[in-house]
Amino acid sequence: MKYVIVTGGVLSGLGKGITTSSLGMLLRARELRVTAIKIDPYLNCDAGTMNPFQHGEVYVLDDGSEVDMDFGNYERFIDVSLTTNHNITTGKVYRTVIEKERRGDYLGNTVQIIPHITDEIKRDIVQVGEDSDVDVTLVELGGTVGDIESMPFLEAVRQLSRDVGRDNIIFIHTTLVPILGVVKEQKTKPTQHSVRELRAIGIKPDFIVTRSERPLEGSIKNKISLFCDVPSDAVISAHDVGSIYEVPLLLEGQGLTDFVLNRFKLDKVEEDLTEWKDYLDRLLNPKDAVNIALVGKYTHLMDSYVSHVEALNHAGAKAKAKVNILWVESEDLEAGGPKDLLHKADGILVPGGFGDRGIEGKISAIRFARENDVPFLGVCLGFQLATVEFSRHVLGLERANSSEFDNDTPYPVVDLLPEQKEVVDMGATMRLGAHEIAVRESSTAERLYGKTKIEERHRHRFEINPDFIGKIEKEGLEYTGRSMDGRRMEIAELAGHPYFVASQFHPEFKSRPLRPSPLHYGLVQASLERKTG
Ligand code: GLN
Repeated sequence: MKYVIVTGGVLSGLGKGITTSSLGMLLRARELRVTAIKIDPYLNCDAGTMNPFQHGEVYVLDDGSEVDMDFGNYERFIDVSLTTNHNITTGKVYRTVIEKERRGDYLGNTVQIIPHITDEIKRDIVQVGEDSDVDVTLVELGGTVGDIESMPFLEAVRQLSRDVGRDNIIFIHTTLVPILGVVKEQKTKPTQHSVRELRAIGIKPDFIVTRSERPLEGSIKNKISLFCDVPSDAVISAHDVGSIYEVPLLLEGQGLTDFVLNRFKLDKVEEDLTEWKDYLDRLLNPKDAVNIALVGKYTHLMDSYVSHVEALNHAGAKAKAKVNILWVESEDLEAGGPKDLLHKADGILVPGGFGDRGIEGKISAIRFARENDVPFLGVCLGFQLATVEFSRHVLGLERANSSEFDNDTPYPVVDLLPEQKEVVDMGATMRLGAHEIAVRESSTAERLYGKTKIEERHRHRFEINPDFIGKIEKEGLEYTGRSMDGRRMEIAELAGHPYFVASQFHPEFKSRPLRPSPLHYGLVQASLERKTG
């Protein structure tokens, strides 16, 4: 087993995740089997309860674990499906160690960060690699070198390099090279300092990946090489590019993959990046453009909807159209706000969400799409609200609502199922992860998926209330996708509308550059048709 450890210096948000994902994708293109681990040095056990304001999107894996949005990049770039074990957090590690201590597993010894916490971290890393049956395990260490929180993890990977031997582990350090002053000089000091910090811990990086606005100048590369004690061609420039999907080519172009293979003494297989380049070509050279309004409540933070943004990118590339996202804050719609954005939109997307803020704004956007034949995709909360909107304005059930938002509504068209009501613990009732769905023949969903049995990921508590399904379907909103036992509604489609499709599941999580989410593709296609007439 080979390990690649990716650390970060200077500041967060340098694209460690993209570097890790890109390298994973490149190694796969050399016919290696690859997996990725993300270490999050926070005390939360997982990202499930974390506020999107602080943390960006909560990404959901097949097994139902709720993880950091970096996982989305791993899965999209490397094209793998990961599990909860691939996310190691301080909270999880301490929980295991404390449980062991309580059980008496440490036989009365004093339990300490070194070796007990570090042993547990190493065991987790090695175990994931073994369970995944791969050649290379990539480990991204969240946070920045020098943070108190990261210390036990850095110590653990330092020890790991002794355990597995220096030939079997590579350290990549990502840093920032800012450009300052009137002469626009690229500055290396932050890189020097953060590498020194890393070396003080006992880790000598093999590669330094520098983020900078412009390509790294030759003299700057040499300077980093000299001060940080790495060969100058091991200093890789990860300068700004138009799309994150270009990063693998940027790294490949500077020989990173070959260096890594050499260091690991692995056979060199010619890379095959044809499909990726093809995808990029379609993404970067679109023949057309569409405007999609995304009506959400964290819209000033694009990170909260990153999987939708990527799914629309993937779909746009397939349709050879650039997708411009018009960010619409749903609360503003309530105040009579940016309706003009809805008028400018060729299609409307209402994504998932929790809590009642902005609900009425989303409902008005859905009504606008339905009444004006504007292509519409609703996801999770968007699906539930499409049912609410239809019940109110077509069935005439005034005050129809989800009981999540109005406990006294006379028409709880979205509600907890009876068996859920008995479970008081909020967390316990959440339906998470991949579940199979039966898709009705000849439906729009069947046309888009090309099959009648699909599997998609979920993250919700509420369901369409079975008591109202008959009445709703009679008026034309049909539930064309259902859980295998038929009890839960999964897809809704409006008959006679060019594209009015909504899903209880989150198709954005399984969207890949070369295999876009079928429902997002459907939205983009219908929006293009509407635009071009
Ligand atoms: N709040 C809704 C529910 O819990 C929808 C969740 C979501 O959109 N992810 O069912």
